[in-house]
This record gives sequence, structure tokens and C-alpha cells, in this order.
Amino acid sequence: MLLIRTENLTRLYRLGDETVTALLDVTLSIDRGDFVAVMGPSGSGKSTFMNVIGCLDRPTSGRYWLDGEEVSALDADALAAIRNLKIGFVFQQFNLLDRLDALSNVELPLIYANVERAKRRELATAALARVGLGERTLHRPTQLSGGQQQRVAIARALVNEPKVLLADEPTGALDSRTSLELMALLQALNREGTTVIIVTHEPDIATYAARLIRFLDGRVVGDTRQQQADAAQVLRQIVRLPEQEAAE
Ligand code: ADP
Ligand code: MG
Repeated sequence: MLLIRTENLTRLYRLGDETVTALLDVTLSIDRGDFVAVMGPSGSGKSTFMNVIGCLDRPTSGRYWLDGEEVSALDADALAAIRNLKIGFVFQQFNLLDRLDALSNVELPLIYANVERAKRRELATAALARVGLGERTLHRPTQLSGGQQQRVAIARALVNEPKVLLADEPTGALDSRTSLELMALLQALNREGTTVIIVTHEPDIATYAARLIRFLDGRVVGDTRQQQADAAQVLRQIVRLPEQEAAE
């Protein structure tokens, strides 16, 4: 079932007399339950695409439907409401509030959604458990590792059951082992039904997606489906290696 549809999505930036074409005529469809990796060189429009899809930004021209609703026609307030209801965003630098503990960070979207306090606690606690951080709810971001901080960010993105999880270079600040653990988590969430779109410039990370969309100069220049590598399985192999050595 169709979740995202764009037609000729274009985003121009004006810089003085110059016009920068960040996105040009992007027409594509993404189904519910898909796992998409967006690739392309720096400056090719990946983040601009995610920001428009995530209702953080509006296209200069073209149309965009999310979950059956045309969002390219909405004003800023309506866009913010859609964003809060239907989008979960994860960023490379986690973007957590350092003065709040993990639980309070995850509760933030629920405050904006006017969910009452006891219910907020319950949902945020469940979201942290879902990402494997059930015992770290009272830690502040500075008391957590990078991988744990990114899990808090994912819990925050998922806490109000969004239609789609958007992650812009979510492993960009993580080491390779922690990146793999994060991909295993995203694959598990995807198997539970969450639609996932990630931006990455790492070919290894892209192998865990089911569909690969390539950008160049603001245009889609490639769109292929692929056999998804299994991050949890790769992790198990890495963990098993020292044991095998000991047995030999
Ligand atoms: P990517 O994420 O693939 O590195 P971006 O979407 O961030 O690429 O940027 C695409 C193009 O749009 C680049 O040329 C970039 O310089 C330009 N751009 C992005 N954001 C802005 C902005 N706020 N003002 C002007 N130009 C921008
Ligand atoms: Mg970017």
C-alpha cells in the first residue's frame, strides 16, 4: 500500500543572484513497510529530500502526498501537526536535550501531542524498552554512549507511532560495530511494520535496505530493489569469531 508519493518535487534555494537546485523533478512512490536507503555524494540533495518528506521543509514546486493526504498544499502550522503525528526523525548528531534524562527526551513528542503525564511515562518507558534501553531511562545523554544516545533518539522518533521513520545518516557518528547494532534494530523495527527511510553514504550500511535510491545533483539517478543483508546475522558472526578461534 502506498505511503509516500511525490510528483516532480523540486526545491530551489536562492543565494543572492544565484539559484541552487537542491532537488529536481523527483517523482517516486514508497510503500508502507518498505526499507529504503538513499545514497548519493555530498550535496546531491539527500537531506533536502528527507526534510521535504519529513515535513520540515516545503518544495518550491511539485506535489507530495503522505498517507493519502496532499501535504505540499498545507501551511506551516498544518505541516507541523502532520510532522508530529506521522513522522519520526532521527539525525546523525542525535539531537537530544542534554539537560533531560532519556525518559524525558522520549516524552517530548507526546508533550507536543498533548498526551497526559502518566500516559506519557508509560509510552516513553515502553519505547525505550523496545530499543533495548529499559534500564537506562534515567540517564542523561552525556551518561550514555553514542550508540545508546542514538537508540534514545529512535525511541523518541517512534514513541507516537509514526507512519514513517526517517533517519539522515543515523550511523554517521557511530563506529562500525555500533552501526551494525543500530541497523539490526532498524531491521527489527521494520519487520514489526515500521516504514524506514535512511540516508547513508556508506555502501555497507545500504546493504541492509530492501530498496536503494540514488541521488545526483538533486535528481534520482537510480532506484533498485535488492536482497537485504541481515544485520543481526552479521553481528552474530562477528561475536562468534573469537569463540571459534578458541575452539580451534
Ligand atoms: P546532501 O544531504 O546530499 O549532502 P543537501 O540536500 O544538504 O545534500 O544539499 C543539496 C544542495 O542544496 C547542495 O548544493 C547544498 O549546498 C544546497 N543547500 C542545502 N541547504 C541549503 C540552504 N539552506 N541554503 C542554500 N543552499 C542549500
Ligand atoms: Mg545531508
